This record gives sequence, C-alpha cells and structure tokens, in this order.
Amino acid sequence: MLKTKNFRNERFFGRYLDYEEVSNYLRSLPPAFNLCCQGYSVLKRPIYSLTIGEGKTKVLAWSQMHGNETTSTKALLDFIDWINQDAETFRWYNQRFCLQLIPVLNPDGAVAYTRENAHHADLNRDAITLKQPEARILQKIGAHFKPDFAFNMHDQDSLYGIADANKATILSLLAPALDEARSIPPSRERALQLIAGIAAQINVLIPGHVGRYKDEFNPNCMGEYFQMQGVSTVLFESGHFGRDYTRDQVRKYVFNAFVSALSLLADQAYKNQTTSSYFDIPLNTENFYDLIIRHVEREGAMVDIGLKYVEELKDGKIIFLPRVEKIGNLKGYYGHKEIEGLGQKIDGIPKKNIELNDIIDRIHINNEIFTIDLTNN
Ligand SMILES: [Zn+2]
Repeated sequence: MLKTKNFRNERFFGRYLDYEEVSNYLRSLPPAFNLCCQGYSVLKRPIYSLTIGEGKTKVLAWSQMHGNETTSTKALLDFIDWINQDAETFRWYNQRFCLQLIPVLNPDGAVAYTRENAHHADLNRDAITLKQPEARILQKIGAHFKPDFAFNMHDQDSLYGIADANKATILSLLAPALDEARSIPPSRERALQLIAGIAAQINVLIPGHVGRYKDEFNPNCMGEYFQMQGVSTVLFESGHFGRDYTRDQVRKYVFNAFVSALSLLADQAYKNQTTSSYFDIPLNTENFYDLIIRHVEREGAMVDIGLKYVEELKDGKIIFLPRVEKIGNLKGYYGHKEIEGLGQKIDGIPKKNIELNDIIDRIHINNEIFTIDLTNN
C-alpha cells in the first residue's frame, strides 16, 4: 500500500478551491468511483458524491458544508487520488468499506468563499427546517445510504488552541451529542471510541495539537441530526498551525486522520478504546490570536494587542487582512506570531491611533516599523 504520510493530490493547493476544477477532477475518475450528481445547489450547481467499495462498513463523509472551509476537502481529494493511484490500495478499501464521499456539499458557498449558501443560510442550522436544497440533499443521501459512521468535516479558524497550553489546535474532534443530557448509547459510544483511537494515532505525528471540540447540543446541526438517527457521527475540525495559512500542512494531518479512522474501523481496533480516553483529550478553546503585540503603550496605558488575519476572496485567491480583535491584557493567550514591544509606544500606519476592528498592515513601535501583513512572513 502507498504510504500516506506525505501523499498529496498535487492538483489542489491553497485556501481557495476552484469548484470547476474540483468537479472536472471528480468527473475524470474511473467508473469504480461511481460519481453521482445528487442534486443541485440554490444556483443550480451540481453536488457530487462518489461511492467506493463493496464492503460491509458504510461510511458517509462530507466536506465544505461551509463554503470557506476547504482543508478537509483537500484531505478527501488526497484520499481519492491516493486510492486511485494504486490498485492494491483501492482493493483494500473496496473489500472492507462502502464509502460515500461528498467533497463539496455547498458549491455556491465554495465559489463565493462564504460559510453560507447562496440564500445566506448556514446549512449547519438547517437540519430541522430543511429550507435549503443542500441540507435536504445531505439528509436524503443519509436516509438512502444508511451509513454506520458519518464524518462531518469542517475547518475552524485560527483562534483556537488546546486549553491551558501554548499549542495551536491542528485537529479537533467531537462526537456530537444526541440529547441535552449528552447520553451515550452504543451508537455514540462507537464514535467516542473511534475518536479516542484517531487522537492517539495523530498525537504521535503532532504531539499535543489534537483537541476535543466543545460539546453542546443543538438539534439544528447536521452532526446532531445524524447522531440522533443512530449513525455514529464524528466531527472533524481542521485547525491552524504556525505560518501555514494555506493549510497545506494541516491537510496532511487531516488526511492521515481520515485514513487512521478507516484503519481503526477496518480491524475494529477502535473497540479497544474507552469513552474515558475520549474525555481525556484536552479541550479545544479560544486562546490564540494570529499575532499578539505585547507590552506596548497606547493612549498612556500599557496593553497587549491581538490581531486576526481575516480572509477575503480577491481575484480567485484568498488574501489575509490583519484586523485588531482585542486591546487589553492577553495573559493566557498565545500568538501564532508574537512581537515584544518592551513597553514602547505603538502607532498604526497611516492611522496613528489603533482601535478595535481596524485593519492595519504596518505598525510603528519606538523608531522601528513592523510590517504585519502575511506577504512578509
Ligand atoms: Zn464549518
């Protein structure tokens, strides 16, 4: 079998994926991938699925329910290319699984690079009302395919880290609740065990960077919906690390986590895991900024400044705009990058007084100018 570690589908990289290119690639796959147009988005773009294998265990995985969350789509495209390049690998999955993959559930959001669909609706709040065609398509696929496991694949933003640690979250996982009491019937227990197994394996690659997503019950969410149907459901959230703003490093770990999940299912090794090892995974929490400028004087007071790089689609590429998110004491928070101001006075350029929500790409501390946009990092 091909080694997963550094494999990647070289057709796709960067934060923005061209939906035409993704569609063309899916359409070019051999017949054994069983491409199917499952229906159409609000703007009549086709929503494709692939169905692979004749094995016993049925796994449904979807990505880009939120159009601006492309990392796990890249990981699925890596997986597809990986099994397509090696007949033995393909056979291995074919014998054990029936996989149904939906690389892009929200093509209109993918093209516009928005979380929502073309009706400005969050598909992940539409599990009960089913007003949106994309949400109806996902539930129709679920009802028809009747998966044993569902993988609900997303991206989280760069403000997340591991609780009480200076470790950015690269991957966070959750077995969504199916009721207010967060009860654990056997179907959810299998998801907890699978997550404990994935976390243990991925922690070897990225020690301390795997988190447990916060557990809240919201029946409008798709993960909760599938869990409530008795499908063992796992939420994958691709996170952020260091200067990897294209997330082409992170995708590697998401791809490995996906492969790891299937391996644990294939030999049923996940059943050796306990629910307590799931609850031992440290919590994913908001304790990061993209950039922290520490100990600077602003309007006569000593403050720290936290900035986030806000994504914007421009000419088919994503640009990152440094936006001031927090001015105050940022003890207990970490920066993917930090600048130490040593108590000196700070000014923005060209606007001198730095305020919340300002987009600033250069700062002046004492006599030194720092460029803080990502082009110079
Ligand atoms: Zn999402």
